[in-house]
Amino acid sequence: MRPDERHQPAPRQDVTYWCRNDHRIDIRIAADAEAPALWDCPRCGLPAGRDAQNPPGRVRAEPYKSHLAYVKERRTAEEGEALLAEALAALRRRRGE
Ligand SMILES: [Zn+2]
Repeated sequence: MRPDERHQPAPRQDVTYWCRNDHRIDIRIAADAEAPALWDCPRCGLPAGRDAQNPPGRVRAEPYKSHLAYVKERRTAEEGEALLAEALAALRRRRGE
């Protein structure tokens, strides 16, 4: 869907950028201008690059967390609470003495 270029007063080039949120940004600049390497995504503000497969700043998605990892995390929290309760109990015992 390119606009009819016959109405363009000067030769233009379309440049497409992609941010890491898969936002596509199409800009149009003078044909003799050098397209900047980066363009701020107007939707999320992140820098967008011209390589759709490799947008700037793309970070690997969070590693998949297994159910066991969640269980371990929860257990650690429970253990932490148990330790805290134990410490509080000890503190109260000391205060009671
Ligand atoms: Zn974006």
